[in-house]
Amino acid sequence: MEALAERLGDAVTGKVLEGIEPLGFSALKTVSPAPESLLGHRVESVGRRAKYLILDFGDAGRILLHLSQAGRLDLEDPPKKTRAKGSVVRLRFADAPAVLVREYGHERKAAWWVLAPGDDGPLERLGPEPDSDEFAEIILHGDDRRRVHTLLRDQRTVSGVGRGYADDALWRARLSPYASLASLDDEARAHLLEAIREVMRDGLERERSRTGGLSQPKLGEHFEVHARYGSPCPRCGETLRRVSYESHEVTYCPNCQTGGKVLADRRMSRLVK
Ligand SMILES: [Zn+2]
Repeated sequence: MEALAERLGDAVTGKVLEGIEPLGFSALKTVSPAPESLLGHRVESVGRRAKYLILDFGDAGRILLHLSQAGRLDLEDPPKKTRAKGSVVRLRFADAPAVLVREYGHERKAAWWVLAPGDDGPLERLGPEPDSDEFAEIILHGDDRRRVHTLLRDQRTVSGVGRGYADDALWRARLSPYASLASLDDEARAHLLEAIREVMRDGLERERSRTGGLSQPKLGEHFEVHARYGSPCPRCGETLRRVSYESHEVTYCPNCQTGGKVLADRRMSRLVK
C-alpha cells in the first residue's frame, strides 16, 4: 500500500481536482462534507495509513480510499467517460490522469470517505504503525494474551500489518502461528519486532520495484510464505502447511515454526472424513 500511495502521489500531487464521479452504490461512507466541496482544490499530498490511501486537500479536507481485497486503482490518461464493471469512483484532475477505483471481486467492499479538516473518520480507531516507538512498546513489553497472529491482524491494536505480513513475520521469527504475545520471552519478542519490520521493509522494496499499473500485488507474488501453502519453505525446503479459518488461512513451516508438528486444519479433516 505504501508503494501504491507513492505512485498515486507521483501522478496527482499538486493537481487540481476537477471532477468526482461516484460510480458504485453505497461505496461513499460519508454524507458530509459533500464530495463537490473539494472541487477546485489542489492535492497537497498523498499518503497512507494502514490500508487507507489518503489524498490531502489541505484546508478543504481529505479523501480516503480503501481498496479492500479486490480493489485496484486505474490511472486513465486521457480520462475516460465509461463506467467499467465494478467501478467505485472516478477522480478527475486538471492536467493529470484520472484515477478510477475499481473492484474485481464479487463482494463490494472498496469504499471512500470525504473528511472535513481535523476529522479522522475511520483512521481514528487505528493502532500504531510498525515503524513507530509505540508499536515497539507493544511487541517488546505488552501483556496481550492473544495469539501474535491475531494481534497483528487487529488494526485497532497495530495497523498496516495484516494477515500476509503476519504469516511472513512469524515465519521469519520462527514462531508458531499459535504463539501468544504474553508467552514470549524478551529475546523472542526482540526477534519478532525485527522480523515484522524486516518483512514490511522488504515488502515495500518489492512493491517499489514492481512495474505496471497501480493494482495491488497478487497473493503469492508478494509474500515469502503467505498463500504459498503446498510449496517448499524458502529456508528449509519442508512443505508449507496451512490452518484454515472462515475468513482467512495461516501458512507456516512445521519444521521452522512448530517443532515438526503439523497443526490440525479443519479443511484437511473434512477431506479425510
Ligand atoms: Zn522451514
